[in-house]
Amino acid sequence: MDRRQALRLLAASAFALGSTRPALAASGGPRKVVVIGAGILGAAIGYELAKRGAEVTILDRTGPAAGATGNSFAYLNASTKASSRPYFGLNWLGMAGWRAWQQEPGAALPLRWGGAVYWRGDAAATQQLAASLGTVRGWGYSGQAVDGADIRRLVPSVTVSGDPSGAFFPEEGSVDPAEAVAALLARARQLGARTVFPAEVIGLIVAGGQVRGVRTREGGLTADAVVLAAGLGSGTLAQSLGVPLPLTSSPGILVHTRPQPPLLDRLVFAPHSTIRQTVDGRIVSSSSGHEGGGGTGDPAAIGQAILAGAADYLPQIRDAAIERVTIGQRVLPGDGFPIVGFVPKVDRLYVAVTHSGVTLAPVLGRWAATEILDGARIDLLDSFRPARFAA
Ligand SMILES: Cc1cc2nc3c(=O)[nH]c(=O)nc-3n(C[C@H](O)[C@H](O)[C@H](O)COP(=O)(O)OP(=O)(O)OC[C@H]3O[C@@H](n4cnc5c(N)ncnc54)[C@H](O)[C@@H]3O)c2cc1C
Repeated sequence: MDRRQALRLLAASAFALGSTRPALAASGGPRKVVVIGAGILGAAIGYELAKRGAEVTILDRTGPAAGATGNSFAYLNASTKASSRPYFGLNWLGMAGWRAWQQEPGAALPLRWGGAVYWRGDAAATQQLAASLGTVRGWGYSGQAVDGADIRRLVPSVTVSGDPSGAFFPEEGSVDPAEAVAALLARARQLGARTVFPAEVIGLIVAGGQVRGVRTREGGLTADAVVLAAGLGSGTLAQSLGVPLPLTSSPGILVHTRPQPPLLDRLVFAPHSTIRQTVDGRIVSSSSGHEGGGGTGDPAAIGQAILAGAADYLPQIRDAAIERVTIGQRVLPGDGFPIVGFVPKVDRLYVAVTHSGVTLAPVLGRWAATEILDGARIDLLDSFRPARFAA
């Protein structure tokens, strides 16, 4: 079997991997689990735990998808992760996981799999795109170089000037993130999980070196294990136990139109605008000119400017009504990579915090549930453990 076949097999069998560490399982693995946070990670982990028969309670201080998730562009991809082979692999498995979830019973997931079309506005960025394409293709990922005629064929509604060189990644897609969280929570509840909103966790209960539950403003809740999936709120809770969880954030602004007629089956990454259409027809767009501009300026005016930029490529939306402009905060672990696993020093406290959490949710959800309930150790997560910050 060559390397490419091996990688394809890896993606296909992602959810069967892992090596068993008998210690936790032998001591009677946790059954009653509290998940803090109902973003995409908390919903994913809660759903996977409930599928496995755990007694799950999911808490959120505001409500479902109230944090980064509700303001996410939610592009499901691995092609932008070419700088790190382990991180690329994890994202690729995340994409496979969404396809697996799509086949499972319960509330439908609002997914669109049409691929992503890229072209860039200058020579340096075009070269960088070609280099990334070469790297991920070398790892067995589907992608092809495209020219102007190919791009017009792939996205016929889009105006493309000249004859740019670009890339097409046919297996990528997107999901509507708030609706996906709602669907995962509905699936989890159907399997017996409890969801409580609003419920702010103000402290973790620890005795004998092991987490025993959480304290909320309304009272205490006991648990055999606790999952910290509170996005940017995770740092403070971890810090209260002396567990370092270095997180920063960066703003990202998106414009959402009212539903439009069908225009785009695929995501479009044009020189200054990123554009997709949701399952219910809304156009969602961001602009490189307004990246990081979330903290300043009038959001309505920024929204109009982003829409005008997107309309240069998609003229049909020039007069579209803007439904909302969102300013989200990306959750960025100190070194940019996911932080996933049991924390050092406090037994049975599991953390899951990451950027690209929408892409990664299915694989992290599945593997977190396996590690928590079975005492398994998934070695493909070894590059991403919280212990790397302990020193
Ligand atoms: C503009 C933007 C674009 C993005 N684009 C993409 C993309 O294209 N693809 C991709 O894969 N990812 C993307 N991301 C990243 C992705 O959205 C995040 O990584 C992901 O949503 C994180 O999910 P989460 O569940 O960990 O955190 P969050 O969604 O932030 O959820 C954490 C939840 O915890 C709750 N909480 C916090 N503290 C407490 C507490 N003490 N008690 C109870 N509840 C608490 C919050 O209310 C919140 O609901 C983007 C993010 C942004 C902002």
